[in-house]
This record gives sequence, structure tokens and C-alpha cells, in this order.
Amino acid sequence: MALELYNTMGRTLQEFQPIVPGKVGFYGCGPTVYNFAHLGNMRAYVFQDILKRSLRFLGYEVTHVMNITDIGHLSGDADDGEDKMVRTANERGTTVLEIAKFYTDAFFADTDRLNIERPSIVCKATEHVEEMIELNRRLEERGHTYMAGGNLYFDISTFPDYGKLALLNLDELKAGARIDVDENKRNPYDFVLWFTKSKFENQALTWDSPWGRGYPGWHIECSAMSMKYLGEHFDIHTGGIDHIQIHHTNEIAQSEGATGTKWVNYWLHNEFLVLDKGKMSKSSGGFLTLQTIIDKGYSPLDYRLFLLGAQYRSQITFSWESMESAKNARKSLLKAVSRIVASVGDRAKNSQTMTHEAALRALPADSSAKPYLERFKAGLETDLNTPKALSELQGLVRDATIPAEDAYTALVAMDSALALKLVEDAKAATVAAPESDPRIEALIAERATAKKEKNFARADEIRNQLRNEGVLLEDNPSGTTWKRLSGTAPGGSLV
Ligand code: AMP
Ligand code: ZN
Repeated sequence: MALELYNTMGRTLQEFQPIVPGKVGFYGCGPTVYNFAHLGNMRAYVFQDILKRSLRFLGYEVTHVMNITDIGHLSGDADDGEDKMVRTANERGTTVLEIAKFYTDAFFADTDRLNIERPSIVCKATEHVEEMIELNRRLEERGHTYMAGGNLYFDISTFPDYGKLALLNLDELKAGARIDVDENKRNPYDFVLWFTKSKFENQALTWDSPWGRGYPGWHIECSAMSMKYLGEHFDIHTGGIDHIQIHHTNEIAQSEGATGTKWVNYWLHNEFLVLDKGKMSKSSGGFLTLQTIIDKGYSPLDYRLFLLGAQYRSQITFSWESMESAKNARKSLLKAVSRIVASVGDRAKNSQTMTHEAALRALPADSSAKPYLERFKAGLETDLNTPKALSELQGLVRDATIPAEDAYTALVAMDSALALKLVEDAKAATVAAPESDPRIEALIAERATAKKEKNFARADEIRNQLRNEGVLLEDNPSGTTWKRLSGTAPGGSLV
């Protein structure tokens, strides 16, 4: 089966075909760094991470670009309100750049804790204003812009495909369906490419430009930076569903308006995480952050597991009950993984990643781990169906009939895509048993005798019996030592 992704452009499930075989260029809208990211934002970044790691699991080489918005994003996406960065800097009596640095660091500290891999390229808007000016110049040359009230605007009437992504009806737009406060606009859906003397005169950071000293609109940064790092035509662009209507619609108009050709092949959007009470948003004040759940005793990876329990296109409701279930599910997963890790001994020493193909090559042709691996892959290939993939992973690690070596290989490959750090955390959970246990020691002695008498069947039987009890034997030159896996009741079963 081939990878199929739901393309918002066209609203269909489509087979993924990269522009360059074996390679994927992918741009994901990054954070506006005026506040901590909330748990809903983190859903968008876990989604980007799963997309990237799944593509790699399937054998693609991925270049992932993410922007940091540190300028130009107003509180209303349609050029209304105040600049979010400036507002916070003024409230705190500090500078925009200090605010940006603080919240960018906080953002990456959170993504690290969620085991989200850093993007291949992280680019800040304030460091790419030249590229934005250049793109605006190209738009001007091609007749897509006008000046009004000191601002440079994109004229949507010059771009017949405007609104295609959001399925907007241009005739309705012309009638002025949206209430807009900016009287300079010829059409309420026109948008600012460059601000100069407008109501935002108190802007902290400004640059010289052909249209006067000022600063860029929000949307132009994503067009300029994605094209700089991925070229004028690339494979995938992601963001939350809230970006379809305005931000991504405007990004497309700018990018395709400037180049005259298709910009992005696949548009992927994650649904929202909501609270029982409704939407979670930065501006509404009381929002939950990763630190909130850590303070309540949960691991960030419990939250990651909670998110993977839903496909990225379904809305999910955050609740403490579901966090509790996720915590228990991860605990039980770790116990099952601990047993596999203990059985493969030294192989688990170096954490590694593995593609689907490498795992298939490493497994015996008739391995009973293969069907799990294949169903796992099929799950991811069906528009990143993580709940399906997760249930195959859970089935694999709990299936005691699979030889531990094979289960380990499949597990490493699966966790390369889901990144729940299962092997690493299971290893950390394995602790030496401090106590002595006459029954276990008697069995070890019996095993040593069996081995001397070349009764290997009995020796293996004893090792397996103890392993099933969560007791791991280690043979070394001076004899056999044993340790209990953590979370195992003495003499009890692991799973
Ligand atoms: P922002 O920093 O506000 O630009 O948002 C960062 C990312 O989070 C964007 O891709 C948004 O679409 C996404 N996002 C915002 N709120 C939520 C939410 N409640 N659930 C999921 N994604 C969200
Ligand atoms: Zn963007």
C-alpha cells in the first residue's frame, strides 16, 4: 500500500507523490512567541513530528522547516487588533526581542520534553525581512498590490483562485461578508503585505523598504521563508485548521501570485484540542501548558500518547480522566516493553531508529512480528492513523508468542515513528534487585547444574520461567546474577 494523505486542497485522500523521489520538503507554521504555547498548540507540533517521523519510517528523507513569528502577527488574523509581540513587550515593560527569546526558548524546552525532534531549519521572521521585501516587490511587479493609507496591500481581485483552499466564494466575498475595520481595503479580504504609517505607528521594530519604513504583514513571512529554504514548489505545508480560512489562503495568494505557478502540493491541517468548556486559546487567558500537566504528576509522554490516541483530523477534548488513562496505558506499555528489552540484553544498549524496510530486512521471513509491523505501516499510510498504529504496537509487545528478538526489531521501528521513547524508558525502569530470594537462587543453581549436564532444555525452561515472573538472569564469567524489573510484584507477572 502507498501513503495516502488528506489534502485540504480538494478535500480528498490522495496518494502521496513527492516532487523529488525519496525526498520530502515540508513547512509547518510555527509559534508566535508572545506567550507560552498551550496544550492545543502542542497538538499541532506533535502532529508535525509524527508526520516527519512517519515519512522517515516509510523511507523518505525529510527537510522540515518551521518559522518563529516574532513580528507582524496582529491579534486578529485579518489585520485588525494590535501586534501580539508589541502588546506583550509593552505590558511587561521590556523589548520585543527579549519577549521573543524567552518564549522561543520555552517553546523548544516544551517540544524537547514531548520528544518532538527539532526541525531541520528554524527561521525567525525578524531575520528574513529582506526576503519578504523581495517577495512583495515581485508581487508589485506582477500587479497584485496597491498602496492605501501608507500600507501595501494584496489585491485579491488579481488572483482568481483566491479562497480555493478554504472553499470561499469570491462573489460573496466581494459583497463584504466579513466585517472589516480597515477602510483602506478595496475588498474586505485584501490583506496587508507591508505596514508603514498606519494605526500601528508604535511598532517597535521597523525596516526600510520601497514602500517606506515599516514592517511586514504576518502572512508574507511564511511564503518568503518556506520558498527560501524549500524552493518555489515543495511537497507539504501544515498548520492547525484555524489557519485554512485566512493565513494559508493568503500565503497561497502571495506565493502563487509572485511565481505564477503552483506552490504546495499537499495541505495538511490538524483539528483542535478543546476543553470541556470549549476552545483553548492563548488570548483567552486561562490556558493549560505542558508545565500544568507535569505539575499534576504526568509525564509529557503521557500527553503525547493521549494525542496519538486520536487521528490528527478528529477533534479531541482534553480532560484529566483521559490523561489518567494515557498515563496508565503508557505504564502498561512500558512494562511489556521492559520484558522484551530485558530479553534481548545487549542489543538494547544503543537506542536507535529504524525504517520499515530495515526492520523487514532484519526479521526472519516467517517472523510472527511481521503482520503487526505491516498493519502498523498500513495504519500510518492511511492518513497517519495513529490510533490504529498504536494498537498494533500494543498488540506486538503483549504477544508472548513472538520471539523477543523479533518483537524488539519491530518495536524499534514502530517507535521510530511514534517516538514514545519506549526502549529508553523501559531500560531506565529496569533496576537491580537488592534483596535475595532463596527460591530464585535455588532455580539458578539448578540451571547451572542442568547446563553442566548439557540439559539445555531444562536450563532454558528455568530462564524462561523466571523471565515470565519479571526476573532477568545475567550470565557472566563469575556466575549468574539476577535482577527484578521495576514495577513487578515479587513473584508476580509483568503484564
Ligand atoms: P499560534 O502560535 O497561535 O500561531 O499557533 C500555533 C499552532 O497551533 C498553529 O498551527 C495553530 O493552528 C495551532 N493551534 C492553535 N490552537 C490550537 C488548538 N486548540 N488545538 C490544536 N492546534 C491549535
Ligand atoms: Zn504560516
